[in-house]
Amino acid sequence: MSGSPSLAKTYAPDGRWAFVCECGNRECRQPIALTLAEHEAVRAHSRRFAIAPDHETPVVEIVASQNRWFGVVETFVGEASRIPEETDPRIQAR
Ligand SMILES: [Zn+2]
Repeated sequence: MSGSPSLAKTYAPDGRWAFVCECGNRECRQPIALTLAEHEAVRAHSRRFAIAPDHETPVVEIVASQNRWFGVVETFVGEASRIPEETDPRIQAR
C-alpha cells in the first residue's frame, strides 16, 4: 500500500473508517475504527480525542466513553496537554 498515512480507508462493513489513535503516545499508530459521524462528534469537542481502547493516560484525561472499537478521552487541561510532548526535552530524549 502507498499513500496517505493518516486517513482513512473504509475499514469495516458497517461504514467505519480507519483513523489513527490520538493517545498521548506520539509514536502510537494504532488504527481505530470510527464512523464519520463519531469522528465529527469527537472533533466537535476541542478537549476530546479518539483513542484505541485502554490507551488513555489517566493523569491528564478521563475516558468519556468507550466501546468495542475505540475510546473517547477528555483532557483535564485542554489541547495544550498534547503540545508539551513536542517541546519537552525529557520526552524527546527517551
Ligand atoms: Zn494509542
